[in-house]
Amino acid sequence: MSTTALTNRAYRLRRRPVGEPAAGDLELVTEPVPELADGEILVRTLYLSLDPTNRLWMSDMRQYSPPVELGDVMRGIGIGEVVESRREGFEPGMLVSGYTQWQEYCVAGPEAGFYPLPDPLEAPLTAYLGVLGHTGLTAYVGIEMADVAAGETVVVSAASGAVGCIAGQIAKDRGAHVVGIAGGGEKCRHMAENRGFDTCIDRNAPDWRAQFDAATPNGVDVDFENVGGEVMDHVFMRLNLNARIILCGMISQYDAAGTDSDWQGQVNVGQILMQRATMRGFIVSDHADQFPAGLAYLSELYADGRLSHDETIVEGFDEALTAMRRLFTGEKTGKLLVHVADPT
Ligand code: NDP
Repeated sequence: MSTTALTNRAYRLRRRPVGEPAAGDLELVTEPVPELADGEILVRTLYLSLDPTNRLWMSDMRQYSPPVELGDVMRGIGIGEVVESRREGFEPGMLVSGYTQWQEYCVAGPEAGFYPLPDPLEAPLTAYLGVLGHTGLTAYVGIEMADVAAGETVVVSAASGAVGCIAGQIAKDRGAHVVGIAGGGEKCRHMAENRGFDTCIDRNAPDWRAQFDAATPNGVDVDFENVGGEVMDHVFMRLNLNARIILCGMISQYDAAGTDSDWQGQVNVGQILMQRATMRGFIVSDHADQFPAGLAYLSELYADGRLSHDETIVEGFDEALTAMRRLFTGEKTGKLLVHVADPT
């Protein structure tokens, strides 16, 4: 097939959002698919992963990777099907995951990090963006870093989310007492009844702090932190001596991205000193050496039915930007994905 016969639809970043991304910050454009050069593949996007870091990439704040340049296609990870290949090891029809970006067709060289999915698949396709993809690996790397011991109390914020749900279950597998924090009573019940958390506290309850204190009678040994802000501040007040804070994310601050100084400072940071705690931030992509062991571990747990997950799948590429808001409003459970197309 000649790629010139195809048209692509892509979201291009036109303006850096101030606060919540608005219509006009990204433009959905229609453009021709370029011809493939040697070493490139053409991938048709099937599912797009929506990640809190998308919001950071839209901004030009100081961050762990370069921001998306104005005018560029929005950066994003997805699953797709190879349509055409001029790269060894990739054949038409293969299912792959990598940086599809926010577009229906992606012409990509090796820098896009595409890798083939198992053939045949060992799990539903969407699991490779969640529990068996970068979010599952984030949970694995973070819990490994915390060196969780049996009997310790591990707190996971954004517990019903893509990373949090898996982090809690891995900590449980290590024998920890796991306390989640999530937004909403229904989600919290689900995490406790079906996702292995010992308990989960609804951060929207007026007395959530008292509930959290009651749920952590032995204090907190590990904080797997996804949220930052007020939630993290309260967890700080329960830290035990030599506690470990694994700083995975601070989603409560991301809408302030673009203005670094608008990020809320942590009020109770003195507790790190008082409790001789350590806090370590990490970015999953720095830990590729742990991915084979992590994927083997996650796959085994998943195949044994000891690891379960949730997904919220939004229908249609046109919905990508509005769907992304759900990461911030919490109107979803588990991994948030956009269904763009079906495999042929
Ligand atoms: P989630 O699926 O957890 O979605 C985000 C959730 O955060 C929402 O559903 C909501 O859950 C909660 N939330 C949103 N706004 C707030 C707020 N203001 N205060 C408290 N909670 C809030 O996303 P991911 O699992 O993909 O990511 C979770 C965290 O992990 C993010 O901070 C992300 O940046 C980080 N991350 C870090 C990586 C790394 O390499 N370090 C890699 C991947 C993710 P609810 O309403 O239920 O509380």
